[in-house]
Amino acid sequence: MRISTDVRLSASQDAVFPARCVACGREQPRDSVRICTWAVGWWSLATKAPGARFCVDAPACLECRNRLRRRRWLRPLAAFGALGSALVFGLLDGFNGKVWAWLTFAMALGCILPWFLTELLYPPPLDLAAHATSVDYRFQDEDYAQEFARLNDNGRADGYGLA
Ligand SMILES: [Zn+2]
Repeated sequence: MRISTDVRLSASQDAVFPARCVACGREQPRDSVRICTWAVGWWSLATKAPGARFCVDAPACLECRNRLRRRRWLRPLAAFGALGSALVFGLLDGFNGKVWAWLTFAMALGCILPWFLTELLYPPPLDLAAHATSVDYRFQDEDYAQEFARLNDNGRADGYGLA
């Protein structure tokens, strides 16, 4: 598994991306891909604040955009599949059927495993991790991350910039 290069910016800062596709590095891509994340932390439990969703538009060429869009469905699909299996598991538990228990367990695993392996073997070119006041941009491409950090003045403030 490759380790990402993280750049931390303030959540209020508009990120400037290099004029290259975030996935394949092609120059001057004409499309962009929207990458979103939910900010997680104690405050989301304490306040249930809406607006905790954070999105950026990263430059991407058409092929990469479509590929990344398709991939985006994998995560919720795996989560819902696993959740559904867990629900069935819960319902069937009343029957005390051991075969069913294993079947639903296998179903949950079958939903999560493809997603897990894809993430492990082909990590997304850019992933986000949002915090209360900052956002981590996790790039697979180190050169791209360093150019991104430069373009954004290394986050402009202390504690931000290239991790
Ligand atoms: Zn591309």
